[in-house]
Amino acid sequence: MKIVSSSKPSEQDGQRVIIAPGSGFCSGVESAIEKVLLLAENEPGKRIFVDGELVHNRDVNECLRKRGIGSLEQDSSVHEDDIIVIRSHGIPPDRRSFLENFGCQIKDCTCPLVRRIAGIIEANRRRPIILLGDRNHVEVKGLCGHAEEIFVCENLDELSQLLETIQKENHSISKNNIASPREIKHWLMLCQSTLDVDFLKAARHLCAERNLNIEIIDTICSATKQRQSGLKALENCDAILVVGGRNSANTGRLFKKIKERNQIAFWIENEGDLESLDLDIYKKIGITAGASTPRDVLENIRRKISKK
Ligand code: SF4
Repeated sequence: MKIVSSSKPSEQDGQRVIIAPGSGFCSGVESAIEKVLLLAENEPGKRIFVDGELVHNRDVNECLRKRGIGSLEQDSSVHEDDIIVIRSHGIPPDRRSFLENFGCQIKDCTCPLVRRIAGIIEANRRRPIILLGDRNHVEVKGLCGHAEEIFVCENLDELSQLLETIQKENHSISKNNIASPREIKHWLMLCQSTLDVDFLKAARHLCAERNLNIEIIDTICSATKQRQSGLKALENCDAILVVGGRNSANTGRLFKKIKERNQIAFWIENEGDLESLDLDIYKKIGITAGASTPRDVLENIRRKISKK
């Protein structure tokens, strides 16, 4: 398996199989993998541990393991001459301090776009922050570590409840005419980099509906937007293959989005999973993938189906 490649997925108009634009590895994940592979090449003999999984993709992680790049487990005994890699999702500051205590080299592969969100949080430390995203996702956990007061909302219901509380609080502030740092205009809303753009749209709408003048900064990364808008190219497909690890949140989000559009969708991890599917009954097949799926895997799947 080739982990990184320069080939870009293309839209193949008029063909039976279409790969949606923006599918597969994003620049953040690709750059992290390239850096780690280069590290393994330049530092032979050194043990390299990634703090967690570098990507949410079993095949990629298996390939890395074969090249001697392991995952930092709770019981890993780390020595001063080992190297620890921080993955593209980033980590909270206290985790970084913990890793630094090992006294070994730390290679930070945090995506610059995730670092930007952490920077916005740091620069607005005194403000209460609403973060739209999955509270159990490593990126969100990492971002929360930079904040003093942060509220994660995973869906519109949670956001609606929080806005109601904020509104009540503000009402009592204005009634008593007491200035407070928690006035509505002090609140700041940010997004996990891979958030569903429709969720942000609905969140804006909700704030406007309630007349809440909360500052909202769109921190969804361009790779995510491109991947989500790329689904439009698959609207006329009879079935869609969503390719990615079972533990990849953004792959799951794509799958959910397609199902919500009432299209037939199959979530597969790699071309081996094609064996269990009968795709001959579909005239036009679309392929999309999360940020943790190598582009070569998509091309291999396309070729395999096209040959049938
Ligand atoms: S999804 Fe976006 S923010 Fe996350 S690693 Fe990829 S490019 Fe960076």
